[in-house]
Amino acid sequence: MEAYIYRTLDVEEESFAALLEGANGPLQHLRFSEGPGVSLEQVTAWTRLASTSSGELETARIFEVIDQIRKQADMMPDAMVVLLTRTPHAGHWFSLGEGNSHYMHADDWNLFTATSFRLPVTFMLASNIIMRGMYDSMEELTYRAHQQPRGCLLDLCEEKKDISLKMRTADACPECMARIRSRVRSGHMDPKVAIDCFRLMDLVRRDLMCRRRWRLDVQPGILTISGYAQQVDLPGKRVNLSPIQRALYRFFLRHPEGVRLVDLRDVHHMEEVIALYLPIATVGNVTSQQATIQGVLLDVEGKLQQHLSRIRRAFRQALGMAESEMYVVSGTAGERYQIALDRQYVRWFDQEGEQVHCGENGNPI
Ligand SMILES: [Zn+2]
Repeated sequence: MEAYIYRTLDVEEESFAALLEGANGPLQHLRFSEGPGVSLEQVTAWTRLASTSSGELETARIFEVIDQIRKQADMMPDAMVVLLTRTPHAGHWFSLGEGNSHYMHADDWNLFTATSFRLPVTFMLASNIIMRGMYDSMEELTYRAHQQPRGCLLDLCEEKKDISLKMRTADACPECMARIRSRVRSGHMDPKVAIDCFRLMDLVRRDLMCRRRWRLDVQPGILTISGYAQQVDLPGKRVNLSPIQRALYRFFLRHPEGVRLVDLRDVHHMEEVIALYLPIATVGNVTSQQATIQGVLLDVEGKLQQHLSRIRRAFRQALGMAESEMYVVSGTAGERYQIALDRQYVRWFDQEGEQVHCGENGNPI
């Protein structure tokens, strides 16, 4: 089965090419291609002419534009034609279709997918093909759409963000699955094409999930250290660390390259931690404070490990297990321990309010 996509000039070449490439990749019985026989300029002119004074498209006018395209391109009635444009539907539907004629909106997707229109439009291409096979008219389809979302492709989505549930499940509910099976049996739907469509929806689902995780990894919350006590804060929450733990943590922040725990006994490392600890220490005098830190760095009675695990616990309490991983001091016994957080997400001001620079990961100072 062929589906021809006609776009207006505001749907840029590069994203469109990526859409076709991504969509056609996994398909065997279905192919999307740029519609032949009508120029981009012509599609754009017709779309503009059909728009209201406020630059929107009424449903009936959308089908008129698609009819014009069909005529000029001399399309077979059973060829699927899609109009893809940044001109919005007057009722703010982002996709609609009847039979073989479909409209899809290519704008305002960025807010919730953080991608161009590529993934949501790919998803709609696949789901619209299935829906068009399930019911013959747009009226019936609208009537059958689920008012209460159930993670089915027939969920009624009134806002673009609502479609994210559909995209997360990429599935049909049992009722719709039964309908699809019966339409396949009665010859209204090609099972191979339907399987291709589900495959495509699943691909979009996985792509979005990866993206979400990837965004978690590259955009961590800013870690701030400031004030007389050099407290450690994340957006909206304080990480509860003792003065000794704050000294250790800031030491590792200053060493993005990592330091082996045994090397903390080196005199220059010890002096560095002591210099970070003394100004924020709250108990004892200088002599006892130095002795305390030395005991920790020498790991007397497992004190070093205890403090490192308390640091881990404090970040977990603030962020949860998964997200805390990049903030904690971690490493393998005998090897370098380090904080994975990219130092561009650190804002560290000393007691005088001067910014402290702590180097860059993989680029030791
Ligand atoms: Zn359903």
